[in-house]
Amino acid sequence: MNDDAVEHDKAERQMRFLYSLRSRGVTDGRVLTAMEKVDRGAFVKGLFSERAYEDTPLPIACGQTISQPSVVGLMTQALAIAPRDRVLEIGTGSGYQAAILSQLARRVYTIDRHRRLVREAEETFRSLNLSNITAFAGDGSHGLPDQAPFDRILVTAAAEDPPGPLMAQLKIGGIMVVPVGQTDAVQTLIKVLRTEDGFEYEELRSVRFVPLIEGVATE
Ligand code: SAH
Repeated sequence: MNDDAVEHDKAERQMRFLYSLRSRGVTDGRVLTAMEKVDRGAFVKGLFSERAYEDTPLPIACGQTISQPSVVGLMTQALAIAPRDRVLEIGTGSGYQAAILSQLARRVYTIDRHRRLVREAEETFRSLNLSNITAFAGDGSHGLPDQAPFDRILVTAAAEDPPGPLMAQLKIGGIMVVPVGQTDAVQTLIKVLRTEDGFEYEELRSVRFVPLIEGVATE
């Protein structure tokens, strides 16, 4: 293929990617722009890289998965991030979701229990010049007390209930989005709003995530 054909191919792939996001309810212009700018292909390695632009979850290292793009878009949209926000993500995985958040927020903190995933995600962030993301290896169910409180918190692994320490690390007026449910059963994506008086909950949709597991992994 010559250069023109390659460019044409890329443009068409991009158009289809954005179309599939819109048709699944990702309509926020800022979220769409962020997803247009961050190449999902940079986060999917090896065998599955040619499927990076399909609206499907894909396997990554350590038996984990990179989420489906439309779910990434819908969760990001539900967070309603403002440009000055500090955002915490639990479950770095490939780093793709963190990279999308980094386009919309002032600073992103992301944590995964697999050191290898954190290391690989950091390399990808560096290669894409994403300098406002800090990644940590550790058990994210305790949050990041040293950096708290956060304007927004996104959990990308399913918990039985929204973890208490994360609720405590949310600012008043802050929003947390978290998939809640028993492992492998139907999970519901919940939006938690912290108000002066407590917490308000809204059910968004059903989803399927890998489980939130306590403790740090061996690799
Ligand atoms: N957001 C990721 C996908 C996350 S998959 C992306 O954009 O690619 C869920 C991730 O949560 C996995 O990588 C898993 O290792 C991590 N995880 C599960 N339990 C965890 C915990 N207690 N603390 C931190 N990370 C956890």
